[in-house]
Amino acid sequence: MAPTMLPAFFDSMLDLIVKTSTELPPDVRAAMRTSLAVEPEGTRSSQALTIIAQNIDLAVDNEGAICQDTGMPTFEVKAPVGANQIWMRQQIREAIAEATRRGKLRPNSVDSITGTNSGDNLGPGTPIVHFDQWERDDVEIRLILKGGGCENTNAQYALPIELPHLGRADRTLDGVKKCILHAVWQAQGKGCAPGAVGVCIGGDRTSGYTHAKEQLFRTLDDVNPDPRLAEVEASIMATVNDLDIGTMGFGGKVTLIGCKVGALNRLPASFFVSVAYDCWAFRRLGVVLNASTGAIDRWLYRDPSHPIIPMLDQSGFTRTGREVTLRAPLSEAAVRSLKVGDVVLISGRMFTGRDAVHSHLMKHEPPVDLRGSVLYHCGPVAVKDGDAWRITAAGPTTSIREEPYQGEIIRRYGIRAVVGKGGMGAKTLAAMQEFGAIYLNAIGGAAQFYARAIRQVDGVSLLEFGTPEAMWHLTVEDFPAIVTMDAHGNSLHKDIEQQSGARYWKRSASENVKMSSGFVIYGFVALPERGTQGTQQKPSIARGRNLSAPAADIRAPSRRGRDRSSRCRRSTAAGTATAPADRRSSDSRRSSSTPPRAGPSARRRVRR
Ligand code: SF4
Repeated sequence: MAPTMLPAFFDSMLDLIVKTSTELPPDVRAAMRTSLAVEPEGTRSSQALTIIAQNIDLAVDNEGAICQDTGMPTFEVKAPVGANQIWMRQQIREAIAEATRRGKLRPNSVDSITGTNSGDNLGPGTPIVHFDQWERDDVEIRLILKGGGCENTNAQYALPIELPHLGRADRTLDGVKKCILHAVWQAQGKGCAPGAVGVCIGGDRTSGYTHAKEQLFRTLDDVNPDPRLAEVEASIMATVNDLDIGTMGFGGKVTLIGCKVGALNRLPASFFVSVAYDCWAFRRLGVVLNASTGAIDRWLYRDPSHPIIPMLDQSGFTRTGREVTLRAPLSEAAVRSLKVGDVVLISGRMFTGRDAVHSHLMKHEPPVDLRGSVLYHCGPVAVKDGDAWRITAAGPTTSIREEPYQGEIIRRYGIRAVVGKGGMGAKTLAAMQEFGAIYLNAIGGAAQFYARAIRQVDGVSLLEFGTPEAMWHLTVEDFPAIVTMDAHGNSLHKDIEQQSGARYWKRSASENVKMSSGFVIYGFVALPERGTQGTQQKPSIARGRNLSAPAADIRAPSRRGRDRSSRCRRSTAAGTATAPADRRSSDSRRSSSTPPRAGPSARRRVRR
């Protein structure tokens, strides 16, 4: 296949990358819509999901990155025998660089030794491109963008292993289930829950992780053709949402939106279970290219002929009337008056800082006065328009990475609030209590939503670290976040971890759970159909199903579930998995310029 035979290949790759970064696939949208419907209104998880839903819509409207962490681009290519893979790889790399230039991907590839950002998402190992040959003329390319926060929560187990509170995980499917449960419990909200897990049983350490990630190319609503693995998937989905980890680890009904399990042969001496955790910003799409032009013949996972239905009205943050308004710089008294669970709306100056800034501040004075300041753990997508900078995506990054530095930096420079996601540890909590500072959990992945709260970019310091790592000086307005660590020594993260741990330990000890025969029987735990009115039932994420029932019954919990399931199976058979809700036409997309509503309690309207 000579390059000139595929003149449209580069444009097709660019289109695939941009769409993957900005548009969630329909099966993930459907799962997030269900999550939003399941969580009771007014809860922390529900408020977080409201932001996530609006963010998903904003990303499509603005053709902006769903999350500022645009992730490790991983391409799976199936090409005809004789196709020029060297040329295709080069075209893919050029398309990645172009998407980065256009601000659709954040420059995300850094030299592992010097930390220098290549600036174009190219470098050794970036992007990842896997080729397979097949005996067809066309080319199929699938892409997944998986961010660092969730990548860091991946886990690999070598069985048999003693797991805290779960006991021994043997080389059985029950042992596998224990490992998956442990991985999800351990991830808490750090991987931007609700997430999905891809799992590989077996292989070696390398192929296990690769195959686990490959499972994430399956749609959330497919059914594993291997009944043994289908049973593992179903039993995890029936169990895991009882942990009540919830969105962002705030506590709640939905912790996982999918579990996909594969198996590889292994050496007799090894038995690995590899778990690849993906966040709610589960970005994967694919294309089938025309064999002679390289133009897109068909999309995988999405159907462009069906308009996307917005998840939610763009009414801004859903207020309950209990929110606390904060204006930076903050006083000690203002900070000490807050407690875990308070929802705040921040206005005024905010500085960004992540790994490089924290490391720098341990050895150097800050470039700005940080007394009373709000420090935002964020590596934004920044685009230069002439001399001015524009932030196009600005969600929080995982804060725990800064744990070795944060307490010291708070004490030294007088920071009063740290904004990030996933919470921090004991050292930071102690410093906050001593000095009078708080940790505010913003909603991970809500990059478009938070970019909208930035009124202007006032400046930038330490730009030599690259745009994600620089210290940006921002003016924000009504930036919502939740106090999850306060100045009195309280931590919501610690509480949820302990509570979910107690649930998971209790479940493992329960007489209802038989963990030794290779087939798990759970007691029937009905999902409380909160908000059920008349005959209309709220949809439920798989939870509390009676797994002693026959497999067919397991997958048919409700009329709504059956309808959705059967439609998904039909559409999957047709090569796509478009959710029914996204198939309906839309006549009322709101303007992306609609500002956040500043009035009292905005009524939530979930589009179904
Ligand atoms: S949603 Fe969270 S875990 Fe996912 S890429 Fe964004 S910041 Fe990372």
